[in-house]
Amino acid sequence: MIDKKTHRLIRKEIYIVGILFFGLFIAMIVYFCNYVNNGSKEFIYNAYNSRFSVFSDDVVRGNIYTADGKVIAKTAYDSEDNEVRVYPDERLFCHAVGYVGQGMAGLEAQYSFDLLKSNITLEDQINNNLAGQKSPGDSLYTTFDYDTQLAAFDGLGMFDGAVIAIEPDTGRIVAMVSKPDYDPNTIAKYWDDITDSTKNKSSLLNRATSGAYPPGSTFKIVTTLAYLRANNGDDTFSYSCNGKFEIDDYTIHCSGNKKHGSEDLLKAFSNSCNSAYAYMGLELDRNAFIGTSEDLLFNTTLPTLLDTTKKSSFKIDDKTKDSIVAQTAIGQGSTTVSPLHMCMIVSAIANDGVLMEPYLADKLISADGQLVSQTEPVEYGQLLTKEESQLLQSYMAAVVEEGTAEKVNFGEGLTVYGKTGTAEYTEDKSVTHSWFVGYAVDDNGNKLAVAVIMEGAGYGSKYAAPLAAKVFEAYFQ
Ligand SMILES: [Zn+2]
Repeated sequence: MIDKKTHRLIRKEIYIVGILFFGLFIAMIVYFCNYVNNGSKEFIYNAYNSRFSVFSDDVVRGNIYTADGKVIAKTAYDSEDNEVRVYPDERLFCHAVGYVGQGMAGLEAQYSFDLLKSNITLEDQINNNLAGQKSPGDSLYTTFDYDTQLAAFDGLGMFDGAVIAIEPDTGRIVAMVSKPDYDPNTIAKYWDDITDSTKNKSSLLNRATSGAYPPGSTFKIVTTLAYLRANNGDDTFSYSCNGKFEIDDYTIHCSGNKKHGSEDLLKAFSNSCNSAYAYMGLELDRNAFIGTSEDLLFNTTLPTLLDTTKKSSFKIDDKTKDSIVAQTAIGQGSTTVSPLHMCMIVSAIANDGVLMEPYLADKLISADGQLVSQTEPVEYGQLLTKEESQLLQSYMAAVVEEGTAEKVNFGEGLTVYGKTGTAEYTEDKSVTHSWFVGYAVDDNGNKLAVAVIMEGAGYGSKYAAPLAAKVFEAYFQ
């Protein structure tokens, strides 16, 4: 028989234990909320922190989508019920979306922290936690347009190279393809092969953002702007082309040794006359030429919201031989550029000089459909004036109407502006990269800028420009 005093004592102990448990429960919730909502990215990303991994104990890694809602990366389960990452389109988005398994790359790496975070309601998270279930992670919506990406990928076909397409007025990247490529589903299995430089040409490299290519005649956009600035915006120019330009012991030929005859600046540009541009380049003040190139973001880190990009390089000085300066003015010499950078220059021209910073990650959405965060377009600033842009626009229109790209069928209902390029990259001048950079505008004023490079393909007008036409068609249809 328990007396009244003992009974009271027991009740008091139960009461204290109850309070303690309740306190612990509250502390656990506070810790949990704090972890979920305020977990430090730096802490999670710390390489010495074992918690940082591809998958998490609490959250199922979220999906990645195109802007039009196609799943391009998701978490599934293998036969032993282990979480695995699946890329339904295999190679199609590999360089941009990246992979997990052999470390991480691309958006998978850049947004790993966010994909492993769940922003469903706290109540649902706690219920999942108490039931021993993981909560679904947030999903990343990219700026990709599925059909445009597919057109770029298929159009590049078996060629190595890159295609990138950007909306000039926002900076949204709607397509980004690089080849050679790899299948992110089997990256771990074939890792040794993929990274064996004797077997392939750096398949992991994203040539769109990190390729270092000779710009070829697409660089005449830069030379033209330098000429306009040297003449206070006046585009008066005259040159008589006899098919070649000789400087010191070096001869620069026009494409196919064609004699372009008497040309003004618009004609020299639309014909892509090497002789006229070699002559023009030698007339320019070298420091001013460098200055113009740097206004167009050569020799500097590109302003983008992407994780890695390659600096482009343009270097001449007073000691540079005239023959080298002449070659540099037509996009040969030691100048290198990435397709992304050329696409940014064209975007700025299309946007009357204003560059919007390119980006791929549009928004994060919780598994219950709430907007977690949204990327707002970022205006970098004016790369060139509105007047300069409009002159270059008219020259780029002439390339398509009556110049090197006049035979390319860009389809109905689009006004296209562009510049072709055929870039030498070895001693063998018969082997050339095929370039096209430009933009299209539809009847409603919507614009899309593209840069295409097909390695070793040949004439820009024959290969890269028709591929750009396919990209425009897919985007605007
Ligand atoms: Zn010529």
